[in-house]
Amino acid sequence: MVSPGEREPPAGSAGNLAALSELDEASLLRGLRERFLRQQVYVSAAGARGGVPGRRGAGLTALPSRRQTDVGDILIALNPFQPLQLYGREVSEQYRCHDEGSLPPHIFAVADRAYHAMLGRRGARPQSQCIVISGESGAGKTESTKLLLQHIMNLCKGNSQLEQQILQVNPLLEAFGNAQTVMNDNSSRFGKYIQLRFQNNTVRGAKLSEYLLEKSRVVQQDTGERNFHIFYYMFAGLSSEEKEMYGLLDPSLYRYISGRFGTEDVAQRWKQKYQEVCNALDMVGFQEQEQVDMQAILAGVLSLGNVTFEPPESNASLKMSEASRGWLKAAAGQFGVQEEELLKCLICTMSVTRGEQIQRFHTQQQAEDARDSIAKVAYGRVFGWIVSKINELLAENVDPEVELREIGILDIFGFENFAVNRFEQLCINLANEQLQHFFNHHIFQLEQAAYREEELPWETITFNNNEPILNLLLAKPLGLLSLLDEQSAFPQATDKTFVDKLNSSFKGNLHFQPARGRVLGFSIIHYAGKVQYTAGGFLEKNRDTLPANVRGLFINSVTPLLSVLFTATISRTGTLMPHVKAKIIPEADNKFNSTRKQSAGAQFRHSLMVLMERMYSANPHFVRCIKPNSQKEPGVVDNQMLLQQLRYNGLLETIRIRRDGFSWRPSFEEFAERYGILLVKPDVSLTKERKSRLFFKYWHQEQLAKYVERLERAAVVIQKVFRGFRCRKSYLK
Ligand code: ATP
Ligand code: MG
Repeated sequence: MVSPGEREPPAGSAGNLAALSELDEASLLRGLRERFLRQQVYVSAAGARGGVPGRRGAGLTALPSRRQTDVGDILIALNPFQPLQLYGREVSEQYRCHDEGSLPPHIFAVADRAYHAMLGRRGARPQSQCIVISGESGAGKTESTKLLLQHIMNLCKGNSQLEQQILQVNPLLEAFGNAQTVMNDNSSRFGKYIQLRFQNNTVRGAKLSEYLLEKSRVVQQDTGERNFHIFYYMFAGLSSEEKEMYGLLDPSLYRYISGRFGTEDVAQRWKQKYQEVCNALDMVGFQEQEQVDMQAILAGVLSLGNVTFEPPESNASLKMSEASRGWLKAAAGQFGVQEEELLKCLICTMSVTRGEQIQRFHTQQQAEDARDSIAKVAYGRVFGWIVSKINELLAENVDPEVELREIGILDIFGFENFAVNRFEQLCINLANEQLQHFFNHHIFQLEQAAYREEELPWETITFNNNEPILNLLLAKPLGLLSLLDEQSAFPQATDKTFVDKLNSSFKGNLHFQPARGRVLGFSIIHYAGKVQYTAGGFLEKNRDTLPANVRGLFINSVTPLLSVLFTATISRTGTLMPHVKAKIIPEADNKFNSTRKQSAGAQFRHSLMVLMERMYSANPHFVRCIKPNSQKEPGVVDNQMLLQQLRYNGLLETIRIRRDGFSWRPSFEEFAERYGILLVKPDVSLTKERKSRLFFKYWHQEQLAKYVERLERAAVVIQKVFRGFRCRKSYLK
């Protein structure tokens, strides 16, 4: 293992993949594999520095430029699946304000670079930064996010209470938003963007945005998977008296957690986790009553899950067993609502037609679907409320005179392609298409456009441009989401009419394929491969309607939190906003709230647009997490799996452009300081043609006047020593 203090071996085998002498899939794979087996889990795709002394192969060196954006080196993080001695206080101190490139690639170095770039240090223009972490499930995105936060908090050392609160947000979110899946024992079932807000070098607040919590997990989990962690933590951590207070019985009785609990050891770990969650709730600032209400609602969700129905005899209404009656009573108590009212929501739908209230009785299936929808919506609202509460508690305390800047960290679900792909997968894959486009835009489009503008000799690198796929999904009025909305607005439309509409609208589109035979579905050829979607449930999920009687039921709950959750509205960005705060809702959101509720697809599209807007206005840093094997084993590399991730991440092309491109952008001061030592050969004369190609020609005139003579000489030497070293005009202005 390379310790952070140790200088790395020469280029090629080192942390910078762009320094590989051969650049093809096989050598890239070999390079990564060799490093991984030596427990060197971080590798950078840095720009070529042509052997700049003290930097060769060290990776993290691209300095912030004065251009609009400057993508630093891209960090590739291989999941070690074992604890490594890489993240202690001592290491964090080593990377703290370190001289870039003097240490091996590391996630702390990314945090360090973003922080200094945000402050406008090292020759950069002060600007907001965003760190985009991507990778498939279990690749290490959330762990990377935590490490980034840890290092940034270590860097700012200001308002320590706020910093501690920010660090406590993660355990809280993980308890409510993560679950064990076959891919990852601690899989995030939602996406998040954390914005750390700074004034000067002090963090002043934080804002969290969450995307697409997988609510269906509350009511059903696939084989080998579990419900959200918090349910298990509660059973393991609550005392007997507390369980009695919440009306919780033995965990094996509850259907929503499939009657599965853990071994003694596991339960012991959950108990600790429960304590951590309670501490985090206290630390972030949740009040005791809120915590009690929250747990009562979760207990209510579990009890509700055990209510089942039996088919009616002839024309009678649905039957319930004695046991189900008991669970219904328990759920009503935990939710703080009337038992009969809760039952009504399950067995019938109320609608008002021409002023008359009409009751429509459910079939057994409909009643059980209603039960599951209530459980999902209650859990989803609790989660949304936790996020909005965190935002309220961590809202910035600012000095109006000083400009706010931020560092955003995006930890969002990776591309998904399961045996059955539904509406949720379509949204997730759409988000990934957007992120890939963002990556391509910075790494390929902007970079090559700048070279063209600078008239630099450059052979264009092609990349997989996914704009046509984004158009297929997002175009108005004929993109897939718009067509879905159009269909969702017709009461008579069905998933079948939706598929027919897609088939006729996208006939001949290279990224769309109708399903074969009588299958109700379609396929999209995404940047990362073809995904077959099952269309069943698309319309209903997109309509995302909450029956009026369910809303009324919970608004009248005697549990204050539940009443607030259902009095609240959802903003266009998908954030929960209790009415009490209506006055601070921005104009645009108010307009939205006063009109018809937006579909789930439209809300997701909107929150994605808001996110992208934020990210495009910041300077990006990319962390590509890679999962070396699917067994979650340390020291094991599955070549095929690695290769597949390298391919769809476009890493080969990325490394090529980083290697051949002009990514080293020193500030004038740094250049002068670094190369002053090369002021040898004082009488090298320059030809006119060579002189015109020299980088220093474009620097500030006043600085130039001071340094020109010495640097002219240095530059000649540098040109000779460092193959292809050039600097851009725009950068130097
Ligand atoms: P998902 O998309 O499912 O949320 P993820 O990309 O967020 O997945 P993580 O939860 O961050 O994945 O990581 C999965 C597991 O891999 C962690 O629980 C941990 O065991 C291990 N892991 C990840 N990164 C590291 C690391 N840097 N050091 C040690 N173990 C790690
Ligand atoms: Mg995660």
